[in-house]
Formats: sequence, structure tokens, C-alpha cells
Amino acid sequence: VSRPEDLSRDELVALQGERLAASVRWVHERSEFWCRKLDEAGVDPASITSIEDLPRLPTSERAELQADQDSHPPAGSYACTERRDWLWIFTTSGTSGRPLRRVVSAHDWQIFVERSEQDSAFGPDDTVMLLGPTDGMFGPTANLHVASRAGATVIAAGRWDTRKKLAELALWRPTVLIGTASYLVRLTDVAAQTGVDLTDCGIQTVLSSGEPGASIPATRGMLEQRFGGARIVDRYGMTELPTLTRGSCPAHVGALHFNEDFVAVECLREGTTEPVPLGEPGELVFTNLVNDTQPLLRYRSRDVGRLWVGERCECGSPFARLERSVEGRVDDMIWYHGVNVFPSAIENVVHKLEGLSSDYRMVLRGPRDWPELTVEVETEALIEGEAGAALRVRVQAALQEGLQVHPAVELLAPGSLEDSDSGKTKRLLDLRETA
Ligand SMILES: [Zn+2]
Repeated sequence: VSRPEDLSRDELVALQGERLAASVRWVHERSEFWCRKLDEAGVDPASITSIEDLPRLPTSERAELQADQDSHPPAGSYACTERRDWLWIFTTSGTSGRPLRRVVSAHDWQIFVERSEQDSAFGPDDTVMLLGPTDGMFGPTANLHVASRAGATVIAAGRWDTRKKLAELALWRPTVLIGTASYLVRLTDVAAQTGVDLTDCGIQTVLSSGEPGASIPATRGMLEQRFGGARIVDRYGMTELPTLTRGSCPAHVGALHFNEDFVAVECLREGTTEPVPLGEPGELVFTNLVNDTQPLLRYRSRDVGRLWVGERCECGSPFARLERSVEGRVDDMIWYHGVNVFPSAIENVVHKLEGLSSDYRMVLRGPRDWPELTVEVETEALIEGEAGAALRVRVQAALQEGLQVHPAVELLAPGSLEDSDSGKTKRLLDLRETA
């Protein structure tokens, strides 16, 4: 098979079964952590023969991996290869939690790089600018590696502040920009303030990874417009589970396809092992099928999304589709007066409104189970008196229409929510009573 997309769904499912059987045997033989978990769950590795056996396996989560790394430093007893096999050492990034160490073997790195090369389509005529830091981070390091191997000219700009990045960008005119969605938006805000016209900088492709955002329709539209019609590509992956997705589906705006020949995907009701009906939101749970070093079985990602699975997508792919990309983190989903609300839903409203900057934040106060929600938004310019009151009413009405909830709205002066110069932005501030 030349392209993984040429597989039929039946062939794919058979391949997944073979690979799952081999992976379970591998981790059981090689890893104290998995040997104990499988034995405790009463799973005989020899009895795992098809993908239908997946629900019999125990699930795993980040806290267990962290505890295992604490008791078996540095990489944990879930590492299945020896240090001499390891090529890279990374740690996870993210807005919460202690970092997890990630070791990558030459075998696992090659799988990742080869699949990324099929997707990236960088060439010697491209100049690729990486906006975020690359050191110690899987995704950005891989992007750097793939771009340089393709012969592109690479600018690793992570250490420069935003103004310096913009100055170099206007000078070098990169064809490809890579960054997190919230930082890409911030870059466009600063460009507007400093008079850099990003619609005239030769940017053809903007690649967003590391956090959801570029698949939120309003944010995607905003990025398209502010980068002069550049192609916006969203990627979803985790340091624990790279090579998750193949990138955007050409037939469904905002959707991504999984690399299901590498990873088995489930969508489960939060806190249970019960699958949600197809198309309904649930926690995404992943099983590595091809990796040798820190492969994970039924890893609870804490990311929420909804799946489509069928014979073949309209774009030709037999791989499961993640509709609208990741909608949020299990931890960020709040129940507000009986409705579940994600920061991404707020973002989809805020980014459509005139007179606001792109920054926003949700703040929860009061009792844990019946909180008060305030949506804090920044105005684009200083605004006072009646104009401010009118804008606040408009934001409130838009949130009510878009979300069927009535949060309080607070207008903040421009720059109030300004976050770190790069990286990921925290969109939820939880000040609820702890008792
Ligand atoms: Zn598709």
C-alpha cells in the first residue's frame, strides 16, 4: 500500500487488530507497568487478536504515568526500550499539571517523521518560520526537523519577542508560519498595532498546533482574513501520543482525520468506559499500535471531541474523522446552569464581534455546583460611558444567542489579559469555593 488512505475500512480494521495484538504482547513482556496493569485486569495478551478486543484492556491516564516516573525515574517503567535506543528526550508542555518526560526511540521518531513528511509538503522554495520555542518540545522539534529535511529555509524564532518576530517576518517573507492558535491571533493583534501588514507578507500556509483554536470557525475565519487568505491548517497531537492526526479533511471544514493505522481511537463518556453514540461529544481515548518505547493503551487524553467513522469519508480517507477538531479539555468543560460550556464556544462568539480584541477569559465564582460565570473580554480601544454599556449589551446578547446561557460580561481595557509572549493561553479561571 503506497498511501495509508488506499486501505479499505476492512483492511484497516484487520491491520489494527494485528498491530494491537503485537503491541499488547510487547508491553506485557517489556514493561513492569503494563505487565501489572494487564495482569490486574485479567487480560492474557495471547487472547487479544482483533480490534474488537480493545474494550477488554485497562484504560490509563496521565497521573499513573507521572507516579510511575516518580517511582522509576527518569522515564518510568512503562518505557519498553533501553536508553541506547533513545534518540530524543522531551517533556510535555501545557497549561496545567507537572510535565511528563517523553523519550523517543529512533524507531518511533522515524515513524513520526515519515508520516509528517507526507503531510507537510514543504519544499526548497519554502521559508518556514517557527514562532514558538522548540527546545525540549516534541511537536516544534519535529516541525523543525521535517522542514529542514525537506530543504526549506527555516527560521526558529521562538526566543524573539513578538515585535522582533514581526520585523523579521516582514523582512524574510516566510511562506509558512507555525505556532499555537492563540499566539497566531496575538501576532495579528500586535501586527495591527505596529503597522505590519500581514496580508502582504507572502504567507501561504499557517499551521496551528499545540492547542485547539484553528478549527473554531470564527477563529479560523479571523486568521484567514488577517493573514491575507493564507491556507489555515490545524494539527492535533499530544507529546504522549504523536502522529495522531493527518491534518485537515478537505471535505469537512474544521475536521481532522486520525492516523488510524498508528493509533486506535475511542470516544468515551467522561469517567466511564462507556462509548458515547457516534457524533456525540466524549473524551478521546487513544491506543498506540506501532510505537516501541512509551506506547500507551487506552490513554485518556482528557480532550473532548466527536467522531465520525464510516467506510470512507467524502475526501477519500478511510480514517475516523474528528469533527470540529478538539472542542476542549475535560477539565475546562464547565456545567453552567445545566448547559455545558467550553472556552471554544465562547471564542466562537467573541471572535465574530467588532470592537473587541481577540483575548477573552472565563471566570467562575461562587458555589461549586451552581457557579456564576463572567466572561471577560478586552475592548479593541479604550471605551467608556454609554458606548461601553452598549458594547457590553451586544456581547451579552451574542453569548445568549450562541450558547443559550446568560453569563455576566465584563469589558476590560486593551492589553489587560495579555498573556506570555508565546505558548498556550489559559482561558478559564476557576475561583469557585472549594468547600
Ligand atoms: Zn475527510
